[in-house]
Amino acid sequence: MNFSDSEIVNAILADHRFETTHNPEEADVVFVNTCSIRENAENRVLQRLQELNRLKKEKPGLTIGVLGCMAERLKEELLEKVGFVDVIAGPDSYRDLPRLIHIAEGGQKAINVILSADETYADINPVRLDQNRVSAFISIMRGCENHCAYCVVPSVRGVERSRNPETILNECKNLYEKGYREVTLLGQNVNSYSWSQGSHYADFPELLEEVAKTNPQLRVRFATSHPKDLSDQLIEVIARYENVCKSVHLPVQSGSSRILSLMNRGYDRQWYMDRVEAIRKNIPDCSITTDIITGFCSETEEDHQETLSLMKWAAFDYAYMFKYSERPGTIAAKKMQDDVPDSIKSRRLNEIIALQQELSYQGNLRDVGKEFSVLVEGVSKRSEAELMGRNSQNKVVVFPGSKELCGQYVNAVIIRCTPATLIGKLADE
Ligand code: SAH
Ligand code: SF4
Repeated sequence: MNFSDSEIVNAILADHRFETTHNPEEADVVFVNTCSIRENAENRVLQRLQELNRLKKEKPGLTIGVLGCMAERLKEELLEKVGFVDVIAGPDSYRDLPRLIHIAEGGQKAINVILSADETYADINPVRLDQNRVSAFISIMRGCENHCAYCVVPSVRGVERSRNPETILNECKNLYEKGYREVTLLGQNVNSYSWSQGSHYADFPELLEEVAKTNPQLRVRFATSHPKDLSDQLIEVIARYENVCKSVHLPVQSGSSRILSLMNRGYDRQWYMDRVEAIRKNIPDCSITTDIITGFCSETEEDHQETLSLMKWAAFDYAYMFKYSERPGTIAAKKMQDDVPDSIKSRRLNEIIALQQELSYQGNLRDVGKEFSVLVEGVSKRSEAELMGRNSQNKVVVFPGSKELCGQYVNAVIIRCTPATLIGKLADE
């Protein structure tokens, strides 16, 4: 999501004749795009800003800006924490950046953290920052109104709003013409996408279908899906279109219905299991990945065991796993006790990570001997003679091959694996 926002910022600034450099020493303006989801994400930003301050001491004219969630959460308070920051811009004020930079260059602090009810940056044609020129992110909605008890997103990214589908379809077609072969539709809760104008209405399954139809050679992914909104109709569209990738990221957060209810997730363990069963039944080769928070307020050993048992039952292919981190202003911070000691959170997290490592490995072992269509993204990090790409299930596949295959679909047979990677060879060799 942040990556996609940086591409929007780049486009806005390019329109005002700014150029991008990947070297901060060369820059006149440096922006740090931030995330507030966990405390350690914010701590990393503060560290990065201190590094930039060292640069500013050598180069006093340098303008430093903080963009995104942390700018929105801390507003003016950020200037007290890091007085050398010149520009603070929330996620809905990127169009205002040229003006804010101008103010900062005049020696004043510039801040805009107004949230909008309708900004989707629909007309902005993002300047792509990806390295591979094969796979691109498309932001299709912004904000979130789910108010999960632990989560800071609704207060820093504003109300949910969806982007005009025509602009999304045009972006897909343009990307295809430029050689891209994969798009990922992004939103905090993509499957609650809903757009209407007059009598024209589109929900997420309809949008996904239209995107899939733009070109059968364009792969479509999407993230993140909320389990409460994962409809049978959406599962049916994923199953029906070959180019809609067979991979669903479905954050469960906890395997305990009691904790899910405290988290205000809007579903229980049984509902989640039912959704996983519906995916498995209709799309047998689909990978399922998840997010898990361990050590949420009042979580007992029994709740933790329920998370482990659900993980085993669902046999997740991959998981992002986090220790609960209390965020100021959230329902949990206001009404609940962050009462699981850090040492217990760490132990439970380690157990979850160890189990997931095993599940990912078992899942990959089941793929050994199978043949997959792989979209080649580039040369492997380990060796110039090897390529890396992904299969429809979003698993990384590495195999020997020449650079000319980048951006193309190839068939690869899997010969062995690690917990994180499938290792194969070209099918016709
Ligand atoms: N909208 C997505 C997730 C966005 S945040 C969804 O609802 O699934 C990405 C992940 O960060 C969440 O799924 C959750 O696992 C984690 N997360 C969010 N707030 C957190 C917190 N306060 N502490 C620890 N992890 C958190
Ligand atoms: Fe946060 Fe919940 Fe919204 Fe996801 S759905 S962004 S976890 S409030």
